[in-house]
Amino acid sequence: MTEILMDFLHKTFDRSSKILDFHHPEQLLEIIDLSLPNQPKNIEQLLADCRDTLTYQVKTGHPRFFNQLSNGVDVISMAGEWLTATANTNMFTYEISPVFILMEHMTLKKMREIIGYKGGDSILAPGGTISNLYAVLAARYRKYPRVKSEGLQSLPGPLVMFTSEHSHFSMMSAAAASGLGTDNCISVPCNEKGQMIPAELERLVLKSISDGKIPFMVTGTAGSTVFGAFDPINPIADICEKHHLWLHIDAAWGGGLLMSEKFRYKFEGITRADSVTWNPHKMMNVLLQCSTVHFKQNSLLYHCNRMCADYLFQQDKHYDVTYDTGDKVIQCGRHNDIFKFWLLWRAKGTEGFAKQMERFIELTQYLVEGLLKRPERFQLIVAEPECTNVCFWYVPTRFRTMAPGPERDRLLGQITPILKGRMMSTGTLMVGYQPQGKLPNFFRCIISNQAVTEEDVDFLVEEMDRLGHDL
Ligand SMILES: *Cc1c(COP(=O)(O)O)cnc(C)c1O
Repeated sequence: MTEILMDFLHKTFDRSSKILDFHHPEQLLEIIDLSLPNQPKNIEQLLADCRDTLTYQVKTGHPRFFNQLSNGVDVISMAGEWLTATANTNMFTYEISPVFILMEHMTLKKMREIIGYKGGDSILAPGGTISNLYAVLAARYRKYPRVKSEGLQSLPGPLVMFTSEHSHFSMMSAAAASGLGTDNCISVPCNEKGQMIPAELERLVLKSISDGKIPFMVTGTAGSTVFGAFDPINPIADICEKHHLWLHIDAAWGGGLLMSEKFRYKFEGITRADSVTWNPHKMMNVLLQCSTVHFKQNSLLYHCNRMCADYLFQQDKHYDVTYDTGDKVIQCGRHNDIFKFWLLWRAKGTEGFAKQMERFIELTQYLVEGLLKRPERFQLIVAEPECTNVCFWYVPTRFRTMAPGPERDRLLGQITPILKGRMMSTGTLMVGYQPQGKLPNFFRCIISNQAVTEEDVDFLVEEMDRLGHDL
């Protein structure tokens, strides 16, 4: 089994190997046998199953995989995950996970210090989406604690929250899951760079009040998913203070940059936030999944979520039961997401993470320069990216004489998925794409893999041209 895993890793880091061997679902179902048998299979068959599974798996750690916010495979963190799997424990009580629980405390405390909180509380959640949901639940509970026992009927009116039109869809999903309703998650317009416009926020807050709604929360994004934009925290915090609104900062993507003093300015005002989401599984390359949410106020999380289950959280245990973190969360069992993170931090030191962030930004600038050198082939959407997101259209030969403008953009938007399909069929490159607001489909390249070098960035530029020039 170890040999099979190491073989996959070697292929992942081998630039001459394909990123993926793409098959449509019905083809794949014909090639591999996924059926669940009545009779047991022998160990040789199980090993063959393991090999087949990895044969058709996308190598997300390949240096030419620029497709997601979590790219790359860090081998130290991976070794940590192996240990975690071997220990196979649940994170609800100190009783069964003493070392891991203490590690969680140390690591989350350190992260709060880096954010700039004094004291406070944090938890690891199954992804940034759930971290954001925790923030919504805590914000609502602080204002209306009766909602926990009496439900939505106890609220004095319809609550509304605000987030930018470029924010992650998880804010909408939190509005739905918490019973507020998606109509009550109000989208605030952004400027050309994708940053929330504070004056628009204030206008919409005032409008919602005059419409008889009750604003309670604003989410600012630090590193938006598509553009990598950073909302201006201080002006947003001023509005929140004036109207007594909870301020949440969604730094699921951009949070990694907090590790470098150089980029700290992007988060100016973050200590004014009541809560912060930060995903180490994105820019910091901790293995999936590892997401954290931090609160300025201590004990809120506990009061908001605790159910006092007698069979787990007995108050008369013979140790300090405040270490039984399980009663702070909306889960019962919780996966151990800490060890692979803690081990990686030990391996790199805080300085190592800082260097990694600086390297990612350096490579991003290298890519932007590479695209700017070929203006007839690549049309940048955000001229000066704030994070490692580089957004652009690829321009095939026949469009190069056409005047730039909405009509050409529309046609390039149709080309984008076709070029992506060609990337996946050849298996040499993967870059994500999406529309954003009025902008039709464009590519979003992400650099968040430590294996990427300048040569890989050069390859990306040339390979897109090779695959797409005749479209
Ligand atoms: C990725 C992302 C999320 C969601 O995180 P998951 O771990 O994928 O659930 C939330 N907000 C932002 C800004 C993100 O980029």
